[in-house]
Amino acid sequence: MMRQYELVDLVKRYNPRCDEALLDKAYVYGMMKHAPQKRASGDPYFSHPLEVAAILTELRMDDATIATALLHDTIEDTDATKLDIEQKFGSEIAELVESLTKLKKLDFVSKKTEQAENFRRLLLAVAADVRVLLVKLADRLHNMRTLGAMREDKRLRIAEETMEIYAPLAGRMGMQAIREELEDLSFRWLQPDAYASIVGRLATLREENKNLIPAIEQALSEKLGSDGIPARVKGREKKPYSIFTKVQRKGLSFEQLSDIFGFRIVVESLHDCYHALGIVHTTWSMVPGRFKDYISTPKQNDYRSIHTTVVGPGRQRVELQIRTEEMHRFNEYGIAAHALYKDGDHMSGGRNIVDLSKESGAYSWLRETIERLNDPTLNPEEFLENTKLELFQDQVFCFTPKGKIIALPRGATPIDFAYAVHTDVGNTCVGAKINGRVRPVMTELANGDEVEILTAKAQLPPAAWEQIAVTGRARAAIRRATRDAVRKQFSGLGRTILERAFERAGKEFSETELAGFVSRLGHKQVGEVLAAVGRGEVASEAVLRAVHPELFDGRPLPVPRPASAEGWFDAGAATGVMKFRVPDGGSDDRTSIPIRGLSGDLPVRFAPNGGAVPGDWIVGILTPGEGITIYPIQSPALKEFDEEPSRWLDVRWDIDPNSPARFPARITLNSLNEPGSLAQIAQVIADNDGNIDNIKMIPKAADFHEIVIDLEVWDLKHLTRIINQLRSKPIIASATRVNG
Ligand code: MN
Repeated sequence: MMRQYELVDLVKRYNPRCDEALLDKAYVYGMMKHAPQKRASGDPYFSHPLEVAAILTELRMDDATIATALLHDTIEDTDATKLDIEQKFGSEIAELVESLTKLKKLDFVSKKTEQAENFRRLLLAVAADVRVLLVKLADRLHNMRTLGAMREDKRLRIAEETMEIYAPLAGRMGMQAIREELEDLSFRWLQPDAYASIVGRLATLREENKNLIPAIEQALSEKLGSDGIPARVKGREKKPYSIFTKVQRKGLSFEQLSDIFGFRIVVESLHDCYHALGIVHTTWSMVPGRFKDYISTPKQNDYRSIHTTVVGPGRQRVELQIRTEEMHRFNEYGIAAHALYKDGDHMSGGRNIVDLSKESGAYSWLRETIERLNDPTLNPEEFLENTKLELFQDQVFCFTPKGKIIALPRGATPIDFAYAVHTDVGNTCVGAKINGRVRPVMTELANGDEVEILTAKAQLPPAAWEQIAVTGRARAAIRRATRDAVRKQFSGLGRTILERAFERAGKEFSETELAGFVSRLGHKQVGEVLAAVGRGEVASEAVLRAVHPELFDGRPLPVPRPASAEGWFDAGAATGVMKFRVPDGGSDDRTSIPIRGLSGDLPVRFAPNGGAVPGDWIVGILTPGEGITIYPIQSPALKEFDEEPSRWLDVRWDIDPNSPARFPARITLNSLNEPGSLAQIAQVIADNDGNIDNIKMIPKAADFHEIVIDLEVWDLKHLTRIINQLRSKPIIASATRVNG
């Protein structure tokens, strides 16, 4: 295991003024906390954070990042808390370590291939500081280097995730060296046979070309040197995974593989790059179609280099990359190399450790690079104008219990989540568990939340959700569901009305039979006729007349008309048709429409001024567009409908004793105008289990108020009890029910 001073020496090599005390403290603390733990390999656990820190010294990271690497697993795997880290190392390092702890939790979520892009965005959104991503990549790199010690199923999962998520992420961050190594390490476990045969073929070729590489290196550097260009020439073998993808792409066999060596020419200046290119092309013949100038047109991740292939000194094809030292560092280390330069400073080659915790040039470069890849239509100039830094800040990424990632706009709630999963899930949603705990459906979701939607059959989305939902999809679906539900209510009411009307005429209503007459009624479908009857647009009599015209051959037609307050109603007087009697205690069960309350299946509302409560004799008035309005039979407002007998519906209470509901009523009081009188009144109502909806006070005289109270009660008995109790108060001069 690396010693404390060895690590500090690695840092001092690029940062002589590093905070040695801080690094020592982090080393000792990490070692102490992890002391009892071992890795799968049997090594002391602390060897892992230490190696991660060492990888980050290759990237020349700042002191805080190195310290974070040493501590990165302490919160998750030891008894250390964020507070401990904060007290010992300050809030900056504590934040970094905590972010890594959050990312680590995401490791246990399965990721499907098609979700990889969303997952990478999630990483970016969670890692608010680019240093967190760098430590995460170094962490993953070391875990991949030591993957052999893992159990096979774990090994495959981690290798797959690395190939899908982390290697492409490193590539997008411009870190080619890490990307290549991650790909190779994953490839080795994911496709062991392909890996083995490529490695075998490479060994053969290496043996055959033993002397070739030094010969070419020498020929190239001598030629360039004699023309006054100091250059470092380095031959290198391509990585197995990049050979594999090339073989796949070109449909070659491994045996056909020949050009597995490449050479890098690293020169001192931009000018030297093109000068060197000229020399190479005039000395050896260039292979057509292989020249690419990524210096004048860098790749999307800022990769800069000249690529060409020539027929080299030994008549074999030689692939060449020409670049400056600085370009080389950027190509290999990407974002990490940017981290070393202050904005605008990198052309001068000055190396400064910069504060990456702010939205520095390096950080925005990272975001922009990734955004650019997300939008292939955008050219570089356009992209510079569109600083879309808010791209990921605008989104939250949440998981289903099965690990699928759902991307939502920021501010989204479980309602949006439910509709994003499936419309049916949204429509039946009754609640949500967020990270295993039941939470209100209007809770704003955060990145990485696991959301489980609780559903119930026959549940309708409350119309109010339309205001809470932030996604268009959820809003549209809620609107549709509400509209469908209302339509269903109206057709249900229409069916009930028709059943009663047919029954009274001695006929049986059947939708199948009605189907033959819908066009005569000006509609196309039975459902439309039912809804039209429910909405009061088509009279039940018109339907009866259409289906059974024989009933109207001189015979009187029954028109639904309920009782008057006297118990008898002379329908004949109004319509010239018939009379019927209301049985004692209510209407005929067979022909009346059962009224359960506001939550039933029918579109029901109660008389706007005074309401109606169970125990009242009631009358339904079909109100176009609204459904049935229920009036107590004594309501003076009923006079208004005297001339429209077809709107009267015979209704009865049908209260479910298992789910009692409250009903609206209105009372009016004359009370003494003295301090506390209103409180006394409210107290009486509350003591008697009444709910007050609204109170209006009308000054009548110096000493009296009239007080109008809208309240909700269980039934007539309940209402009467409240009125009697109010009357018994000395401050109340009178108390009466209002029937609007
Ligand atoms: Mn780790």
